[in-house]
Amino acid sequence: MHGNMMDRPLLVSSIIDHAATTHPHTEIVSRLCEGDIHRYTIKDAATRSKKLANALIKRNISQGDRIATLAWNTHRHYELYYGVAGMGAIAHTINPRLFPEQLVYIINHAEDRWLFVDLTFLPLLEAIKDKITKVEQFVILTDDSHLPETSLPNVISYESLIADESEQFEWPEFDEKQAAFLCYTSGTTGNPKGVLYSHRSTVIHAMASIATDALGISEKSCLLPVVPMFHVNAWGTPFSSAIVGAKMVFPGPGMDGASIWELVDSEQPDLLLGVPTVWLMLLNHMDEIGKKLNSVQNVVVGGSAAPLSMIQRFDEQHDAFLIHAWGMTEMSPIGTINNFTPAMRSMSKDARYSLQLKQGRPCYGVEMKIVDDANQALIHDGKAFGHLMVRGPWITNGYYLNDDRSSFVDGWFDTGDVATIDPDNYLSLVDRAKDVIKSGGEWISSIDLENAAIGHPDLQECCVIGVAHEKWDERPLLLAIKTADSTATADDVKNYLSDKIAKWWMPDDVVFVDSLPHTATGKLLKIDLRKQYQDYLMP
Ligand code: ADP
Repeated sequence: MHGNMMDRPLLVSSIIDHAATTHPHTEIVSRLCEGDIHRYTIKDAATRSKKLANALIKRNISQGDRIATLAWNTHRHYELYYGVAGMGAIAHTINPRLFPEQLVYIINHAEDRWLFVDLTFLPLLEAIKDKITKVEQFVILTDDSHLPETSLPNVISYESLIADESEQFEWPEFDEKQAAFLCYTSGTTGNPKGVLYSHRSTVIHAMASIATDALGISEKSCLLPVVPMFHVNAWGTPFSSAIVGAKMVFPGPGMDGASIWELVDSEQPDLLLGVPTVWLMLLNHMDEIGKKLNSVQNVVVGGSAAPLSMIQRFDEQHDAFLIHAWGMTEMSPIGTINNFTPAMRSMSKDARYSLQLKQGRPCYGVEMKIVDDANQALIHDGKAFGHLMVRGPWITNGYYLNDDRSSFVDGWFDTGDVATIDPDNYLSLVDRAKDVIKSGGEWISSIDLENAAIGHPDLQECCVIGVAHEKWDERPLLLAIKTADSTATADDVKNYLSDKIAKWWMPDDVVFVDSLPHTATGKLLKIDLRKQYQDYLMP
C-alpha cells in the first residue's frame, strides 16, 4: 500500500524559487574576470536565471539539450546553473584544466549546442574551434563593452543575450529523474567519462550536505567556495546555500592566497571550501602578512588528503577547524565528512588531529563497505583495508553514453580507492588502488608517506610512487620540490621521516625535482612518473 503523500518532483528550480521568496535579501558576491567585485541578492539571481531561460527557449533550446559552461565561480555561472537546469536543459560544466584534446573530446561527446565561456578561457576555445563544429552559439560571460576580438564564430555577450528578456517565467515541471548537470571526470588514462546528475540526486545531495554534522550551513553562514563550479558543481554549494539562504562569496579567477584573503577580509565568510593546494597558498600568504583568518570557523578540505600540518596550522594559527571530507565526481561529490563531534571535546589535541586525518563518516544516504580482491566484505576494524565500494541515491549508476561497467558490481560502485573503515564508521583512505605500493606482499600508502614528508619545512610538494625492486617487487621513491633556498639533502628528509613512519616504509631514495605533474583536478599524476622512474632502483 502506498502512502498518501503528494508526489512533488525534486527539481533544481524549486531551490531558486524557494530562495527568492524566503531569503530574497541574501547576498551573492563575486570577483569578476573584468576585475571588479559584483554584488546582488539571491532574488536578483533568480530573476536573471528566468531571463536566461526565456532567452534559451526563444532560441530553440529544448529540454535535454546540453549547454556547456567554461567558467569560474561567479554570479553569472550561478545563474546558468539555475536557468539551464531549471528550464530542463542540461548544464555541462567543463573543467578548463583538461588538455585541449580532452576538451575537444568532451564537447563533441556531450554534443553541446551552446557554450558559455569566461573571458579567461577564450584562448582555450579559439585553439580548438575547428574541432568543435557542432557548437552553434558561443556566449561570452561579460557585457558588450568588454567583448574582445575573437576568432570564434557566432559570438554574443551574456548581458546582451538576457537584456531584453522578460523577468516572468514559470519553471516547467517534469520528472525529477531527468538529467540536470553533466560533469566529466578528469581521468588519468583514456578519455574522460561523463557523470550525469539528475534533478533528484542534485536536490537530495544538497539537502543532506546542509546538516549540522555535515557542512553545517544555515542562513547565518557565509560560504566562500574556492572549489570550482566547473568541477562537481562546487560540491553542491550553489544549491545547499540557496536552500538555507546562506551568503555566497565567489572568488572568480582569483585563486591565489592574496586574492582569497582580500575576499575573506571584506566579506567575513565563516566557511571555506576547497582542495589542499589552495589552502596551502592561503596559509603561506597569511604567514607572510602576519594576519589571522578571524571570521573563518571551518575549512572543508577534500579532493586530496589533508595533511596533518594543515590541520594544525588552521587550528593553532587561525582557530579554524579543518573539516576533512572525501568524495568524487561520481558521488555528486560528497561521501564522508569529518565534522567536530562531542567526543572530540575531551580529546587531547594529538588524538583529535589524528582523528581529523581520517576522511570522516558517511552522510546519511551514502552506504559504504570495503571488499577484498574476490569481492568479499572485510571487517570494519580500522585495520583491514580493501577496495572501497559505495552506493546511494546521489552516486552514479553508469557513465554517459559509455558501456564501461567495470566499476559497477552488484549495485555498488567501486571507487578505485583502497581504505579502512573503523568501528565508528570513520573512513580512512589508504591510497588509490593503482597508486598503492606493493612491497614484499605488504601494502604501503603513498598518501601517508606524502603527508608525513610534507611536514618537512623545506619541502613544498611531495609525491611518492612505487618503483620496481629486485627483491621486494616495489619500493617507495619520494619525489619532492624544495623551497627556493633550501639546502636539504635526501638524508635530511629521511632523518626527518624516521620517527614518523614504520621503518620498512622508508622511501629507498629522495629525488628533488623542479615540478610535479597534476591532473585537471589538481591531483598528482603518477602514471607518467612511474614510467619515467620504473628502473630507478634496478641494478
Ligand atoms: P577526478 O575527476 O580527478 O577523478 P574527483 O574529484 O572525482 O576527481 O576525484 C576523486 C578521488 O579523489 C577520490 O576517489 C580519492 O581518491 C581522491 N580524494 C577525494 N577526497 C579525498 C580525501 N579527503 N583524501 C584523500 N583522497 C581524496
